[in-house]
Amino acid sequence: MADELAARGLRATRQRVGILRILRRARAHPTAAEVHRTLLRDQPSVSLKTVYEALDSLIVCGLAGCVTDGGEPYRYEAQKEPHYHARCRGCGRLIDVAAHSDAHIRSRTPIPAGFEVERIAVTIVGLCPRCRSHRPQQIDSR
Ligand SMILES: [Zn+2]
Ligand SMILES: [Zn+2]
Repeated sequence: MADELAARGLRATRQRVGILRILRRARAHPTAAEVHRTLLRDQPSVSLKTVYEALDSLIVCGLAGCVTDGGEPYRYEAQKEPHYHARCRGCGRLIDVAAHSDAHIRSRTPIPAGFEVERIAVTIVGLCPRCRSHRPQQIDSR
């Protein structure tokens, strides 16, 4: 991981390496606070501010991504294949969905002339199976 950081011109600080490892192991899309909480187990004196700064540097160099289309709080992930997100409006969970329809969207959407598309972000909003099974209450902020 240190080499990957170096290849992108980033110094491999303990925090950056630790955060990248957390993001790569994470099953869900953790928030900065969740990343911080996990990192504290190994690095008890790291501040949340440091976590935000390290996340920013990982995003700028392309090793991590920030998911903003699920609303606040923003969630983070290690960069992988382009994918869409299904967001549960009950529990806020983001589920990765394979991005198979980019070509279809490009061909069917009136993209402004001269606009260069870099990325297509799709968020599918609904209720996950867990939340569907205990509707209508049980709305927490996770
Ligand atoms: Zn849910
Ligand atoms: Zn994702």
